[in-house]
Amino acid sequence: MEQLPLFLDLKSKSCLLVGAGDVAERKARLLLRAGARLTVVAPSISDYFESLDRAQVTISQQAFAPNVCEGHHLIIAATNCEAVNRAVADASQRLGIWCNVVDRPALSSVFFPAMIDRSPVTIAIGTGGHSPTLARWLKRRIEAGLPSRLGILGKALGRWRRHVQMQIKDAAIRQRFFERILDGPIARHVLAGRVADAEAAFAREIKTPREKQGEAYLVGAGPGDVGLLTLRGHQLLSQADIVLYDALVSEDVLEFARRDAKRVCVGKRPGESHKQAGLTQSFVGLVKKGYRVCRLKGGDPFIFGRGGEEIQALAEAGLPFEVVPGITAAQGCAASAGIALTFRNIASSVTLATGSVGKGNEPDWALLARPEQTLALYMSMASLEMVSANLIAAGLAPHTPAAVVEKGTLEKERIVDATLAGIAAACCEHSIGSPAMLFVGKSVALRASSANEYNWNRKDVLLFQNVMSA
Ligand code: SAH
Repeated sequence: MEQLPLFLDLKSKSCLLVGAGDVAERKARLLLRAGARLTVVAPSISDYFESLDRAQVTISQQAFAPNVCEGHHLIIAATNCEAVNRAVADASQRLGIWCNVVDRPALSSVFFPAMIDRSPVTIAIGTGGHSPTLARWLKRRIEAGLPSRLGILGKALGRWRRHVQMQIKDAAIRQRFFERILDGPIARHVLAGRVADAEAAFAREIKTPREKQGEAYLVGAGPGDVGLLTLRGHQLLSQADIVLYDALVSEDVLEFARRDAKRVCVGKRPGESHKQAGLTQSFVGLVKKGYRVCRLKGGDPFIFGRGGEEIQALAEAGLPFEVVPGITAAQGCAASAGIALTFRNIASSVTLATGSVGKGNEPDWALLARPEQTLALYMSMASLEMVSANLIAAGLAPHTPAAVVEKGTLEKERIVDATLAGIAAACCEHSIGSPAMLFVGKSVALRASSANEYNWNRKDVLLFQNVMSA
């Protein structure tokens, strides 16, 4: 984090503003709205400053001198004179006082965010000084989605808070009570301007007895790109008390968890599948204790995700659960690489399978080697050579197009194009690692991406010609 956002209570706190032109006026208006006691120092002042009530603002018509900084909580320099701005920054730094020099991030220790004021609710947006335009653009987007009576809702919740704290002692139950208010009719009444109805509904709601009931959410986090998380997945993830996540889940997706939620990485590494039973047990145990537990899985929970075993255990324990599908790696990687999993007249079906072979886990190679389909193979990297040899032995032509997508949908995505016979060597050559998806089938040669404009001299065009003549 480049900067820590904080909210300042400036009521009756003395602040110094150096400068008294148009820019200074904008800052003065903000500081006065926040209740600050303002001292303005400038050799000459504009009509706005002239018109201010001197009970609120002390105006000192003089050139800046470092000694005027003493005793203030916050200092703002808004002059068009570089030497003065610099002198203000230096004096503030010497005295250890937070200072903002307008439009000069290098001289500032504190920054004004883009702001949405629906008092008492305020939203501040910062870009670490990189782009005020981006901050304003974000502000417009956020503002457009906010209800106009947000401030009234904030005040109502503030009024009720004390009462709820007295009535509901358990912090987790209290939090859920407030969430129910926000998601339900009480907040809707307030936001529609029916405050009396809201008060009546609140009075009824607070009398209803409640207990902490655990809930389980199995959420598919998608293949990595945060934009591929579903809205429902986002909703449940952001309300869970505990998040149990897989190693494959990206940091960006985890960011949507509540700040106070406990996050536990339960990622199994290859060869650790025996840990599943213990994991399921502790998942069930936490839900039994009354927590809302989000089991966040890479891709989709039901595709090589062992989600089936987890919901069986939850159902046996009589616990409520919800499953939210995710975009599976096959879909994410195919979309990203421009591979159409089905393709008219070329691939009429798609098979999701694993190329990893374990005890009693031998894939049905004959089925996988059927023509006219696209194969999407998970967990195949460790045995890539063996996978392609088996597919060829089962009848697939060695020149069948194949591609491997490593870290699909993520920034470091890499794609290797080859033939089935050559894919293992090509991956070895590029040191392709995990996670990666293997795609096999004629449609793979027809992949197209807008990132590198389709180049008709590319190797896969040769493959394409092979495909068409095969
Ligand atoms: N439930 C997951 C699959 C878990 S199995 C899903 O639906 O996607 C783990 C395998 O998924 C990895 O070995 C790899 O083959 C594949 N995988 C997951 N994320 C991937 C990604 N971002 N890029 C490529 N392959 C990925």
